[in-house]
Amino acid sequence: MSDTVKYLLDESQAPKSWYNLAADLPEPLPPVLHPATQQPITPDDLLPLFPLSLIEQEVSTEREIEIPRPVRDIYRQWRPSPLYRARRLERVLQTPARIYYKYEGVSPAGSHKPNTAVAQAFYNKEAGIRHITTETGAGQWGSALAFAGTLFDISIQVFMVRVSYQQKPYRRALMETYGAQCIPSPSELTESGRAILAQRADHPGSLGIAISEAVELAAQRADTKYALGSVLNHVLLHQTVIGLEAQAQMDQADDYPDVIVACTGGGSNFAGIVFPFLGEQLRGGRQVRVLAVEPAACPTLTRGPYAYDFGDTAHLTPLTKMHTLGSTFTPPGFHAGGLRYHGMAPLISHIKELGLIDARAYQQLDCFEAGMQFARAEGIVPAPEANHAVRGAIDEALRCKEEGVSRSILFNLSGHGHFDMQAYMDFLAGKLSDQTYDEAELAMALAGLPSVTAA
Ligand SMILES: *Cc1c(COP(=O)(O)O)cnc(C)c1O
Repeated sequence: MSDTVKYLLDESQAPKSWYNLAADLPEPLPPVLHPATQQPITPDDLLPLFPLSLIEQEVSTEREIEIPRPVRDIYRQWRPSPLYRARRLERVLQTPARIYYKYEGVSPAGSHKPNTAVAQAFYNKEAGIRHITTETGAGQWGSALAFAGTLFDISIQVFMVRVSYQQKPYRRALMETYGAQCIPSPSELTESGRAILAQRADHPGSLGIAISEAVELAAQRADTKYALGSVLNHVLLHQTVIGLEAQAQMDQADDYPDVIVACTGGGSNFAGIVFPFLGEQLRGGRQVRVLAVEPAACPTLTRGPYAYDFGDTAHLTPLTKMHTLGSTFTPPGFHAGGLRYHGMAPLISHIKELGLIDARAYQQLDCFEAGMQFARAEGIVPAPEANHAVRGAIDEALRCKEEGVSRSILFNLSGHGHFDMQAYMDFLAGKLSDQTYDEAELAMALAGLPSVTAA
């Protein structure tokens, strides 16, 4: 077998529908609650923020949801994305495991995020929306939505966590190149931002604060909606093109994954690759072991209780039941900015509770070592977030070696790290260290969880 083993699909084999895991769940998701009444929310409650089509997808239990033709047409620019067999990495590791990775760094923004950004921009355009507000951490979501906004002629306003705004000027430049407006958060533009700045003028910002700012502005104007890059059911749904393609590509390889690994921030790239395979299993098909990998400095799935919580700091969002570190938790400034959210997608939290998936947390240095090893073997420099998946996959492969068994391992390489070379420079210079969260702060954030009596 040659060193480069790549599985490609024709455009004619590209998925025509997304896959909705809600159709195959053994138990339904707990209801989303209104923050004031603690009663289940209705679609009407969400209309100030999202177009009806996306709200319908949010609550849908239909197994297949058609991908609109204009969205498929845009996907064609980089989809179906390639699936590779990591032969050179296998050799370096001297493992009997068969390692496959699905590469989402081929999109214009360099990650999986355009899969949902394009879909969300399409549905907003269809509903007559002219402006979308959003938040971004490291800038990957902001640049993906900026790209989608320019395709559909929608103006995009991005609240970027202030510390990232300062640390990642190239991501900001990319958003502005696509025509979006990028504002450091907390800002003076919103009440939520002003309240935080009044307490601490040099606040570094957090995703929770940036969400509050974006939601606040969108709720005030009829021609403006809000978009989220992860966590919500419809976002996870849009990402399932990844796993649907991977299923066809694993068929081509005449193999089936024993283990699937992905990193988890809000959970969207994980859901994207995992849900179609998990759906197979839930319908009586082959069993697959699933591993979610998260940063030890923001250990939502491995340390956070499963509880009702807000999605943002100012408590403007509905209450969802999820693994959470508390909405006021601010993780330390490690480099995988896309994994710094306090909560986890309700769907992923739910299947974790049902015992359908495992989770593991890794330190930053272990992840960068794995990323370096991967780059030197396979030539692709992973995003710092994706390094968590690489670490998880390498450890699974090393376990195969120890046990002397050959298993098939599939992982999602969610994006490239070309905008994150500062992190690699720091690593190479020996300046990167493991970071730990403040236990007292976590305890305080958890003590602040809302008490919910209805559920
Ligand atoms: C945003 C991002 C993540 C984390 O988000 P999820 O919703 O958990 O997928 C992971 N990898 C990359 C490359 C990202 O841009």
